[in-house]
Amino acid sequence: MRRVSILGATGSIGQNTIDLIARAPEDYHVMALTGAGNVAQLAADARRLGADVAVTAHDHLLEDLRAALAGSAVEAAAGTQAIIDAAARPADWVMSAIVGAAGLAPGLAALAQGGTLALANKESLVCAGQLMLTTAKTHNARLLPVDSEHSAVFQGLVGEDMAAVERIIITASGGAFRDWPIEKLAKATLAEASSHPNWDMGQRITIDSASMFNKAMELIETKEFFGVPPAQIEVLVHPESLIHAMVGFRDGALMAHVGPPDMRHAIGYALHWPERRNLPVERLDLAQIGQLSFQAPCETRWPALRLAREVMETGGLAGAVFNAAKEAALDAFIAEEIRFNEMAIVVEEVLTRMSAASDHIAGEMTLDNVAQIDHLARQEARAVMKSRAG
Ligand code: NAD
Ligand code: MG
Repeated sequence: MRRVSILGATGSIGQNTIDLIARAPEDYHVMALTGAGNVAQLAADARRLGADVAVTAHDHLLEDLRAALAGSAVEAAAGTQAIIDAAARPADWVMSAIVGAAGLAPGLAALAQGGTLALANKESLVCAGQLMLTTAKTHNARLLPVDSEHSAVFQGLVGEDMAAVERIIITASGGAFRDWPIEKLAKATLAEASSHPNWDMGQRITIDSASMFNKAMELIETKEFFGVPPAQIEVLVHPESLIHAMVGFRDGALMAHVGPPDMRHAIGYALHWPERRNLPVERLDLAQIGQLSFQAPCETRWPALRLAREVMETGGLAGAVFNAAKEAALDAFIAEEIRFNEMAIVVEEVLTRMSAASDHIAGEMTLDNVAQIDHLARQEARAVMKSRAG
Protein backbone atom coordinates (compact mmCIF):
# COMPACT_ATOMS: atom_id res chain seq x y z
CA MET A 1 0.00 0.00 0.00
CA ARG A 2 1.34 3.42 -0.89
CA ARG A 3 1.09 6.14 1.71
CA VAL A 4 -0.29 9.31 0.11
CA SER A 5 -1.21 12.80 1.28
CA ILE A 6 -3.12 15.50 -0.57
CA LEU A 7 -2.45 19.14 0.27
CA GLY A 8 -5.30 21.26 -1.06
CA ALA A 9 -7.59 18.23 -1.20
CA THR A 10 -10.82 20.24 -1.47
CA GLY A 11 -9.77 22.18 -4.58
CA SER A 12 -10.03 21.36 -8.24
CA ILE A 13 -6.72 19.46 -8.44
CA GLY A 14 -7.28 17.90 -5.01
CA GLN A 15 -10.70 16.55 -6.01
CA ASN A 16 -9.34 15.15 -9.27
CA THR A 17 -6.58 13.44 -7.28
CA ILE A 18 -9.13 11.98 -4.89
CA ASP A 19 -11.16 10.75 -7.87
CA LEU A 20 -8.18 8.67 -9.01
CA ILE A 21 -7.26 7.38 -5.57
CA ALA A 22 -10.85 6.49 -4.68
CA ARG A 23 -10.99 4.20 -7.73
CA ALA A 24 -8.38 1.90 -6.14
CA PRO A 25 -8.75 2.34 -2.37
CA GLU A 26 -6.93 -0.93 -1.67
CA ASP A 27 -3.75 0.52 -3.21
CA TYR A 28 -3.48 3.56 -0.94
CA HIS A 29 -3.23 4.51 2.69
CA VAL A 30 -4.23 8.16 2.95
CA MET A 31 -2.09 9.90 5.54
CA ALA A 32 -3.31 13.49 5.40
CA LEU A 33 -5.86 15.63 3.59
CA THR A 34 -5.79 19.40 3.91
CA GLY A 35 -8.21 22.14 2.98
CA ALA A 36 -9.31 25.59 4.05
CA GLY A 37 -12.92 26.85 4.27
CA ASN A 38 -14.76 23.81 2.96
CA VAL A 39 -14.59 21.61 6.08
CA ALA A 40 -17.69 19.60 5.14
CA GLN A 41 -16.03 18.39 1.94
CA LEU A 42 -12.73 17.85 3.73
CA ALA A 43 -14.36 15.75 6.44
CA ALA A 44 -16.46 13.74 3.98
CA ASP A 45 -13.39 12.85 1.90
CA ALA A 46 -11.29 12.07 4.97
CA ARG A 47 -13.99 9.69 6.23
CA ARG A 48 -14.50 8.06 2.85
CA LEU A 49 -10.76 7.52 2.29
CA GLY A 50 -10.01 6.64 5.92
CA ALA A 51 -7.37 9.37 6.26
CA ASP A 52 -5.22 9.55 9.38
CA VAL A 53 -5.63 13.31 9.70
CA ALA A 54 -7.68 16.11 8.15
CA VAL A 55 -6.42 19.67 8.50
CA THR A 56 -8.08 23.00 7.77
CA ALA A 57 -5.94 26.10 7.28
CA HIS A 58 -8.33 28.11 9.45
CA ASP A 59 -7.92 27.88 13.23
CA HIS A 60 -11.48 29.07 13.83
CA LEU A 61 -12.87 26.08 11.90
CA LEU A 62 -11.29 23.43 14.12
CA GLU A 63 -14.49 22.82 16.08
CA ASP A 64 -16.55 22.56 12.88
CA LEU A 65 -14.07 20.07 11.48
CA ARG A 66 -14.11 18.04 14.72
CA ALA A 67 -17.90 17.97 14.64
CA ALA A 68 -17.93 16.87 11.01
CA LEU A 69 -15.49 14.05 11.84
CA ALA A 70 -17.26 12.93 15.03
CA GLY A 71 -17.47 9.15 15.33
CA SER A 72 -14.69 8.54 12.80
CA ALA A 73 -11.07 7.62 13.50
CA VAL A 74 -9.82 10.68 11.57
CA GLU A 75 -7.82 13.13 13.64
CA ALA A 76 -8.68 16.83 13.17
CA ALA A 77 -6.23 19.73 13.17
CA ALA A 78 -6.19 23.39 12.15
CA GLY A 79 -3.82 26.20 11.28
CA THR A 80 -0.90 26.92 9.00
CA GLN A 81 1.59 25.01 11.16
CA ALA A 82 -0.73 22.00 11.34
CA ILE A 83 -0.74 21.88 7.53
CA ILE A 84 3.06 21.92 7.48
CA ASP A 85 3.11 19.18 10.13
CA ALA A 86 0.67 17.09 8.09
CA ALA A 87 2.85 17.58 5.00
CA ALA A 88 5.84 16.36 6.98
CA ARG A 89 4.18 13.05 7.92
CA PRO A 90 6.02 10.20 6.24
CA ALA A 91 4.38 9.47 2.89
CA ASP A 92 5.47 7.91 -0.38
CA TRP A 93 3.60 10.40 -2.53
CA VAL A 94 2.29 13.86 -1.70
CA MET A 95 0.13 16.03 -3.95
CA SER A 96 0.94 19.74 -3.60
CA ALA A 97 -2.30 21.43 -4.69
CA ILE A 98 -2.74 24.36 -2.34
CA VAL A 99 -3.27 27.53 -4.37
CA GLY A 100 -0.76 30.39 -4.08
CA ALA A 101 2.44 31.00 -2.15
CA ALA A 102 0.76 29.30 0.84
CA GLY A 103 1.74 26.03 -0.84
CA LEU A 104 5.47 26.64 -0.55
CA ALA A 105 6.19 25.79 3.10
CA PRO A 106 4.03 22.61 3.10
CA GLY A 107 5.66 21.51 -0.17
CA LEU A 108 9.12 21.97 1.31
CA ALA A 109 8.09 20.02 4.42
CA ALA A 110 6.86 17.19 2.20
CA LEU A 111 10.14 17.14 0.28
CA ALA A 112 12.11 17.08 3.52
CA GLN A 113 10.50 13.75 4.49
CA GLY A 114 11.94 12.32 1.31
CA GLY A 115 9.09 10.90 -0.77
CA THR A 116 7.72 12.06 -4.10
CA LEU A 117 6.12 15.47 -4.38
CA ALA A 118 3.65 15.80 -7.24
CA LEU A 119 3.68 19.53 -7.84
CA ALA A 120 0.56 21.30 -9.04
CA ASN A 121 1.40 24.36 -6.94
CA LYS A 122 3.37 26.26 -9.58
CA GLU A 123 3.78 29.20 -7.21
CA SER A 124 6.43 27.24 -5.24
CA LEU A 125 8.64 27.04 -8.31
CA VAL A 126 7.96 30.66 -9.27
CA CYS A 127 8.80 31.95 -5.78
CA ALA A 128 11.55 29.58 -4.81
CA GLY A 129 12.50 27.19 -7.59
CA GLN A 130 16.08 26.81 -6.51
CA LEU A 131 15.05 26.16 -2.90
CA MET A 132 12.57 23.50 -4.00
CA LEU A 133 15.16 21.73 -6.13
CA THR A 134 17.94 21.82 -3.55
CA THR A 135 15.56 20.62 -0.82
CA ALA A 136 14.53 17.71 -3.02
CA LYS A 137 18.16 16.85 -3.70
CA THR A 138 19.27 17.12 -0.08
CA HIS A 139 16.54 14.76 1.11
CA ASN A 140 16.62 12.39 -1.82
CA ALA A 141 13.06 13.33 -2.63
CA ARG A 142 11.57 13.41 -6.11
CA LEU A 143 9.70 16.29 -7.66
CA LEU A 144 7.23 15.46 -10.45
CA PRO A 145 5.34 18.07 -12.47
CA VAL A 146 1.53 18.13 -12.48
CA ASP A 147 0.88 21.33 -14.38
CA SER A 148 -0.35 19.92 -17.69
CA GLU A 149 2.27 21.69 -19.83
CA HIS A 150 5.13 20.60 -17.60
CA SER A 151 3.86 17.05 -17.37
CA ALA A 152 3.72 17.06 -21.18
CA VAL A 153 7.32 18.34 -21.45
CA PHE A 154 8.45 15.82 -18.85
CA GLN A 155 6.85 13.02 -20.85
CA GLY A 156 8.43 14.37 -24.04
CA LEU A 157 11.85 14.13 -22.42
CA VAL A 158 11.68 10.48 -21.40
CA GLY A 159 14.76 8.73 -22.80
CA GLU A 160 16.12 11.96 -24.29
CA ASP A 161 19.38 13.77 -23.67
CA MET A 162 18.81 17.32 -22.34
CA ALA A 163 21.80 18.44 -24.40
CA ALA A 164 19.79 17.65 -27.55
CA VAL A 165 16.90 19.92 -26.51
CA GLU A 166 16.77 23.11 -28.54
CA ARG A 167 13.51 24.59 -27.28
CA ILE A 168 10.45 23.97 -25.16
CA ILE A 169 7.08 25.24 -26.33
CA ILE A 170 4.24 25.50 -23.85
CA THR A 171 0.80 26.12 -25.25
CA ALA A 172 -1.85 28.53 -23.99
CA SER A 173 -5.55 28.46 -24.82
CA GLY A 174 -5.63 32.25 -24.72
CA GLY A 175 -8.22 32.14 -21.92
CA ALA A 176 -11.52 33.92 -21.82
CA PHE A 177 -10.45 37.06 -23.71
CA ARG A 178 -8.33 35.72 -26.55
CA ASP A 179 -10.50 37.29 -29.21
CA TRP A 180 -11.71 40.39 -27.40
CA PRO A 181 -10.72 43.80 -28.75
CA ILE A 182 -7.82 44.92 -26.52
CA GLU A 183 -9.58 48.20 -25.59
CA LYS A 184 -12.43 46.16 -24.11
CA LEU A 185 -10.18 44.35 -21.58
CA ALA A 186 -10.44 47.23 -19.10
CA LYS A 187 -14.18 46.49 -18.90
CA ALA A 188 -13.89 42.72 -18.39
CA THR A 189 -15.96 41.69 -15.39
CA LEU A 190 -15.09 39.22 -12.66
CA ALA A 191 -17.69 36.77 -13.94
CA GLU A 192 -16.34 36.98 -17.49
CA ALA A 193 -12.77 36.42 -16.32
CA SER A 194 -13.82 33.48 -14.14
CA SER A 195 -14.95 31.24 -16.96
CA HIS A 196 -12.48 29.24 -19.03
CA PRO A 197 -13.24 28.01 -22.55
CA ASN A 198 -11.58 24.56 -22.14
CA TRP A 199 -10.55 23.75 -18.57
CA ASP A 200 -12.55 23.45 -15.36
CA MET A 201 -10.24 24.85 -12.66
CA GLY A 202 -10.19 26.91 -9.46
CA GLN A 203 -11.25 30.57 -9.81
CA ARG A 204 -7.79 32.07 -9.30
CA ILE A 205 -6.02 30.06 -12.00
CA THR A 206 -8.98 30.64 -14.34
CA ILE A 207 -8.59 34.42 -14.03
CA ASP A 208 -4.81 34.01 -14.37
CA SER A 209 -5.46 32.17 -17.63
CA ALA A 210 -7.49 35.08 -18.99
CA SER A 211 -4.70 37.54 -18.07
CA MET A 212 -1.94 35.07 -19.13
CA PHE A 213 -0.40 35.43 -15.68
CA ASN A 214 -0.87 31.68 -15.51
CA LYS A 215 1.26 31.20 -18.64
CA ALA A 216 3.73 33.79 -17.35
CA MET A 217 4.15 31.71 -14.19
CA GLU A 218 4.47 28.59 -16.30
CA LEU A 219 7.34 30.15 -18.27
CA ILE A 220 9.20 30.67 -15.00
CA GLU A 221 8.14 27.20 -13.82
CA THR A 222 9.62 25.71 -17.02
CA LYS A 223 12.91 27.51 -16.55
CA GLU A 224 13.16 26.37 -12.93
CA PHE A 225 12.00 22.80 -13.35
CA PHE A 226 13.88 21.85 -16.50
CA GLY A 227 16.85 24.20 -16.06
CA VAL A 228 16.65 25.59 -19.59
CA PRO A 229 17.63 29.16 -20.50
CA PRO A 230 14.66 31.55 -20.93
CA ALA A 231 15.51 32.15 -24.60
CA GLN A 232 14.73 28.48 -25.30
CA ILE A 233 11.22 28.63 -23.86
CA GLU A 234 8.30 29.75 -26.03
CA VAL A 235 4.58 30.27 -25.58
CA LEU A 236 2.24 29.31 -28.40
CA VAL A 237 -1.46 30.13 -28.41
CA HIS A 238 -3.42 26.99 -29.22
CA PRO A 239 -7.15 27.58 -28.68
CA GLU A 240 -8.18 23.91 -28.63
CA SER A 241 -5.95 23.02 -25.61
CA LEU A 242 -5.22 19.55 -26.98
CA ILE A 243 -1.47 19.88 -27.47
CA HIS A 244 -0.13 20.79 -24.03
CA ALA A 245 3.53 21.28 -24.87
CA MET A 246 6.18 20.41 -27.41
CA VAL A 247 9.87 19.70 -27.09
CA GLY A 248 12.07 20.73 -30.01
CA PHE A 249 15.34 18.86 -30.55
CA ARG A 250 18.52 19.85 -32.36
CA ASP A 251 17.72 17.58 -35.29
CA GLY A 252 14.60 19.65 -35.96
CA ALA A 253 12.11 17.15 -34.50
CA LEU A 254 9.23 18.49 -32.42
CA MET A 255 7.66 16.01 -30.00
CA ALA A 256 4.12 17.14 -29.12
CA HIS A 257 2.05 15.82 -26.25
CA VAL A 258 -1.61 15.56 -27.27
CA GLY A 259 -4.39 14.74 -24.85
CA PRO A 260 -7.83 15.80 -23.63
CA PRO A 261 -7.99 18.83 -21.32
CA ASP A 262 -8.46 16.71 -18.19
CA MET A 263 -6.06 17.18 -15.26
CA ARG A 264 -6.50 13.55 -14.27
CA HIS A 265 -4.04 12.69 -17.02
CA ALA A 266 -1.16 14.74 -15.57
CA ILE A 267 -2.11 13.80 -11.99
CA GLY A 268 -2.32 10.12 -12.93
CA TYR A 269 0.99 10.24 -14.75
CA ALA A 270 2.65 11.65 -11.62
CA LEU A 271 0.80 9.13 -9.41
CA HIS A 272 1.90 6.06 -11.37
CA TRP A 273 5.25 7.30 -12.70
CA PRO A 274 7.40 5.73 -14.08
CA GLU A 275 4.61 3.39 -15.17
CA ARG A 276 1.68 4.32 -17.34
CA ARG A 277 -1.59 2.95 -16.02
CA ASN A 278 -5.09 3.03 -17.38
CA LEU A 279 -6.71 6.41 -16.70
CA PRO A 280 -10.39 7.41 -16.92
CA VAL A 281 -9.84 10.19 -19.45
CA GLU A 282 -11.46 10.69 -22.83
CA ARG A 283 -9.73 9.13 -25.87
CA LEU A 284 -9.42 11.80 -28.55
CA ASP A 285 -10.95 11.24 -31.95
CA LEU A 286 -8.68 13.42 -34.08
CA ALA A 287 -10.62 12.80 -37.28
CA GLN A 288 -13.67 14.18 -35.51
CA ILE A 289 -11.67 17.15 -34.18
CA GLY A 290 -10.46 17.81 -37.71
CA GLN A 291 -7.93 20.55 -37.14
CA LEU A 292 -5.75 22.21 -34.58
CA SER A 293 -4.81 25.89 -34.74
CA PHE A 294 -1.94 28.01 -33.47
CA GLN A 295 -1.16 31.71 -33.07
CA ALA A 296 1.76 33.75 -31.78
CA PRO A 297 0.94 35.34 -28.40
CA CYS A 298 0.42 39.10 -28.45
CA GLU A 299 2.38 40.86 -25.68
CA THR A 300 0.21 43.98 -25.93
CA ARG A 301 -2.83 41.91 -25.06
CA TRP A 302 -0.92 39.89 -22.47
CA PRO A 303 1.80 42.04 -20.83
CA ALA A 304 2.25 39.32 -18.16
CA LEU A 305 4.36 37.36 -20.68
CA ARG A 306 6.82 40.24 -21.05
CA LEU A 307 7.01 40.63 -17.26
CA ALA A 308 7.79 36.91 -16.88
CA ARG A 309 10.72 37.29 -19.31
CA GLU A 310 12.09 40.15 -17.15
CA VAL A 311 11.69 38.06 -14.01
CA MET A 312 13.51 35.10 -15.58
CA GLU A 313 16.40 37.37 -16.58
CA THR A 314 16.63 38.91 -13.10
CA GLY A 315 16.38 35.59 -11.27
CA GLY A 316 16.93 35.37 -7.50
CA LEU A 317 13.90 36.50 -5.52
CA ALA A 318 12.30 38.38 -8.44
CA GLY A 319 9.93 35.44 -8.90
CA ALA A 320 8.73 35.79 -5.31
CA VAL A 321 8.07 39.51 -5.87
CA PHE A 322 6.27 38.79 -9.12
CA ASN A 323 4.07 36.11 -7.60
CA ALA A 324 3.19 38.08 -4.46
CA ALA A 325 2.36 41.23 -6.44
CA LYS A 326 0.24 39.15 -8.78
CA GLU A 327 -1.60 37.50 -5.86
CA ALA A 328 -2.31 40.89 -4.28
CA ALA A 329 -3.52 42.32 -7.59
CA LEU A 330 -5.67 39.24 -8.17
CA ASP A 331 -7.18 39.58 -4.67
CA ALA A 332 -8.06 43.19 -5.55
CA PHE A 333 -9.57 42.19 -8.89
CA ILE A 334 -11.65 39.47 -7.20
CA ALA A 335 -12.79 42.07 -4.63
CA GLU A 336 -13.70 44.26 -7.65
CA GLU A 337 -11.36 47.01 -6.46
CA ILE A 338 -9.24 47.18 -9.62
CA ARG A 339 -9.90 46.53 -13.28
CA PHE A 340 -8.78 43.45 -15.15
CA ASN A 341 -6.00 45.20 -17.13
CA GLU A 342 -4.71 46.93 -13.99
CA MET A 343 -3.38 43.67 -12.57
CA ALA A 344 -0.39 43.73 -14.95
CA ILE A 345 0.16 47.46 -14.36
CA VAL A 346 0.34 46.87 -10.61
CA VAL A 347 2.72 43.92 -10.94
CA GLU A 348 5.01 45.85 -13.27
CA GLU A 349 5.11 48.83 -10.91
CA VAL A 350 5.93 46.61 -7.91
CA LEU A 351 8.73 44.91 -9.87
CA THR A 352 10.16 48.32 -10.84
CA ARG A 353 9.98 49.71 -7.31
CA MET A 354 11.41 46.61 -5.68
CA SER A 355 14.20 45.99 -8.15
CA ALA A 356 15.45 49.47 -7.25
CA ALA A 357 16.05 47.99 -3.78
CA SER A 358 17.95 45.17 -5.45
CA ASP A 359 19.66 43.91 -2.31
CA HIS A 360 16.27 42.38 -1.47
CA ILE A 361 16.07 40.51 -4.74
CA ALA A 362 19.68 39.39 -4.70
CA GLY A 363 19.22 37.99 -1.17
CA GLU A 364 19.81 34.33 -0.36
CA MET A 365 16.90 32.05 -1.18
CA THR A 366 15.72 30.74 2.16
CA LEU A 367 12.12 30.15 3.22
CA ASP A 368 12.36 33.13 5.59
CA ASN A 369 13.69 35.46 2.89
CA VAL A 370 11.05 34.35 0.44
CA ALA A 371 8.33 34.90 3.07
CA GLN A 372 9.73 38.33 3.88
CA ILE A 373 9.94 39.48 0.27
CA ASP A 374 6.46 38.06 -0.36
CA HIS A 375 5.19 40.21 2.49
CA LEU A 376 6.99 43.34 1.24
CA ALA A 377 5.77 42.85 -2.32
CA ARG A 378 2.13 42.49 -1.18
CA GLN A 379 2.52 45.66 0.89
CA GLU A 380 4.03 47.46 -2.09
CA ALA A 381 1.23 46.22 -4.36
CA ARG A 382 -1.39 47.59 -1.96
CA ALA A 383 0.49 50.92 -1.87
CA VAL A 384 0.57 51.04 -5.67
CA MET A 385 -3.16 50.28 -5.88
CA LYS A 386 -3.94 52.90 -3.24
CA SER A 387 -1.98 55.58 -5.08
CA ARG A 388 -3.71 54.66 -8.36
CA ALA A 389 -7.12 54.82 -6.71
CA GLY A 390 -6.33 58.15 -5.06
P1 NAD B 1 -8.55 25.62 -5.93
O1 NAD B 1 -8.79 27.04 -5.56
O2 NAD B 1 -9.63 24.85 -6.58
O3 NAD B 1 -8.10 24.80 -4.61
C1 NAD B 1 -7.12 25.30 -3.76
C2 NAD B 1 -6.93 24.41 -2.55
O4 NAD B 1 -6.02 25.09 -1.64
C3 NAD B 1 -8.19 24.14 -1.74
O5 NAD B 1 -8.11 22.85 -1.17
C4 NAD B 1 -8.13 25.19 -0.63
O6 NAD B 1 -8.82 24.79 0.52
C5 NAD B 1 -6.66 25.25 -0.36
N1 NAD B 1 -6.20 26.53 0.18
C6 NAD B 1 -6.55 27.77 -0.27
N2 NAD B 1 -5.91 28.71 0.46
C7 NAD B 1 -5.15 28.05 1.36
C8 NAD B 1 -4.25 28.47 2.40
N3 NAD B 1 -4.00 29.76 2.63
N4 NAD B 1 -3.62 27.53 3.13
C9 NAD B 1 -3.84 26.22 2.90
N5 NAD B 1 -4.69 25.76 1.95
C10 NAD B 1 -5.34 26.68 1.19
O7 NAD B 1 -7.22 25.62 -6.83
P2 NAD B 1 -6.81 24.59 -7.98
O8 NAD B 1 -7.35 25.07 -9.26
O9 NAD B 1 -7.04 23.20 -7.53
O10 NAD B 1 -5.24 24.87 -8.05
C11 NAD B 1 -4.35 24.39 -7.04
C12 NAD B 1 -2.92 24.63 -7.52
O11 NAD B 1 -2.71 23.86 -8.71
C13 NAD B 1 -2.63 26.06 -7.93
O12 NAD B 1 -1.31 26.36 -7.63
C14 NAD B 1 -2.84 26.07 -9.43
O13 NAD B 1 -2.09 27.07 -10.08
C15 NAD B 1 -2.32 24.69 -9.79
N6 NAD B 1 -2.88 24.14 -11.03
C16 NAD B 1 -4.21 23.92 -11.15
C17 NAD B 1 -4.74 23.39 -12.30
C18 NAD B 1 -6.22 23.11 -12.44
O14 NAD B 1 -6.62 22.51 -13.43
N7 NAD B 1 -7.06 23.47 -11.51
C19 NAD B 1 -3.89 23.08 -13.38
C20 NAD B 1 -2.52 23.29 -13.22
C21 NAD B 1 -2.02 23.81 -12.03
MG1 MG C 1 -0.92 24.68 -16.88
